[in-house]
Amino acid sequence: MVDSFEAKGKRRKLVEEVRRKGIADERVLEALNEVPRHYFIDPAFLHHAYQDKAFPISSGQTISQPYTVAFQTELLNVQKGSKILEIGTGSGYQAAILAAMGARVYTIERHRNLYQQARKMIISLGYDVSFFFGDGYSGRPAYAPYDGILITAAAPEIPVVLLDQLAMNGRLVVPVGKGSVQSMMLVERRGESDFVESRHGQFSFVPMLPGVVRGREES
Ligand code: SAH
Repeated sequence: MVDSFEAKGKRRKLVEEVRRKGIADERVLEALNEVPRHYFIDPAFLHHAYQDKAFPISSGQTISQPYTVAFQTELLNVQKGSKILEIGTGSGYQAAILAAMGARVYTIERHRNLYQQARKMIISLGYDVSFFFGDGYSGRPAYAPYDGILITAAAPEIPVVLLDQLAMNGRLVVPVGKGSVQSMMLVERRGESDFVESRHGQFSFVPMLPGVVRGREES
């Protein structure tokens, strides 16, 4: 795979578009400029890779819209060295953005082929990310506490079991809703059992589903 001059140019334009739409965190924008999004979808769709749109990947899933990736990342308030748990690895693009910002990333995916593809791509890019194949519903308590937990699929309600895995001042970012449109929720941990919730606009994600996908899958 090559990160051509053309791809880099398209990426710079995408970063400016995302900035115009309201993303102000320069570290997020820098990561968006660094990570070659066209590596995470079929490279034949180079043109689509740098449009600010979600795009289908395998197993009926999608790579989130770049603006949405940037929005969730900004809301997480990622610092160098932050420990972040992502639920819904998908293509691995969001995990790469977090790693590019210097976060220590743990990511979980329930589709085995997506888990394998994302892992391969991220390793080839040289980012240090821990991948897990399995159900992310109950997080990964073994590595808790996390400074941030990011859910990249729609949850029917705030998954309370994950709140326990947040560090003090940790942030959980999750799209919540049962329909096709969800509210972006931020839950901040202010104390042992003190959590503050806020809402940050409307987004549209594929649903979070329980369990692990079994059997043969298309790729
Ligand atoms: N972050 C991804 C976007 C993923 S789309 C990216 O950057 O490309 C949402 C992903 O969440 C899908 O891959 C879906 O399979 C996964 N998912 C849904 N429910 C899950 C669960 N309970 N545990 C782990 N992953 C889940």
